[in-house]
Amino acid sequence: MRDTFKHQGLRQQLVNVLKNKGITDASVLAAIGKIPRHLFMDSSFLDHAYQDKAFPIAADQTISQPYTVAFQTELMQVNRGDKVLEIGTGSGYQTAVLCEIGAKVYSIERQQELFKKTSKFLPKLGYRAKKLIFGDGYKGLVEQAPFKSIIVTAGAPFVPKPLLAQLEIGGRLVIPVGDKVQTMTLFVRKGPTEFDKTEFGEFRFVPLLEDKN
Ligand code: SAH
Repeated sequence: MRDTFKHQGLRQQLVNVLKNKGITDASVLAAIGKIPRHLFMDSSFLDHAYQDKAFPIAADQTISQPYTVAFQTELMQVNRGDKVLEIGTGSGYQTAVLCEIGAKVYSIERQQELFKKTSKFLPKLGYRAKKLIFGDGYKGLVEQAPFKSIIVTAGAPFVPKPLLAQLEIGGRLVIPVGDKVQTMTLFVRKGPTEFDKTEFGEFRFVPLLEDKN
């Protein structure tokens, strides 16, 4: 597990690309500048790690494009100490970004292979989520609710009600909604039953699948 000057230089270039694409949150840019993304990918993809692209990981899944990670994290408006929930741990890269910003991270993954691999890998890099959970993200994590923010990193055919219900007042749900193409959508909880909804651009994600556990 090596992180060389070459990797660090490529990472700075990636940070500049993200700035040029409109990402402004300093804590998000700093996290991406620091985390060795190449170590989250299979070795054959090392050269691609710092391009602004999604790539395949195990179990037919993908590590999200850095711009997408940055865009979603920026919408969450994470502050140090916030309790946050991620749906779709995958490679753990987004989890690491949230840990690096200082959030208390809970993350759910439904693919056992990925859950096991990432549970071993993240602590090796020094990233300790509060808890990684093998389970169904559609249900959220009621025993730890409410959350300051929730991020869904797979394309959701609809907005799961439990995720809205598990936000604190003022809390934010960032979720790509749609089948083949998804609209990035932000819900801000204004009251027990009131939510503000804002839609952003189109993104492409692997699907949020129904529980198979
Ligand atoms: N955040 C990840 C993105 C991985 S792709 C990263 O940075 O690498 C989306 C992930 O969501 C996949 O790992 C997929 O297995 C997972 N997923 C799909 N449906 C799910 C569900 N219902 N509950 C939890 N995870 C799910």
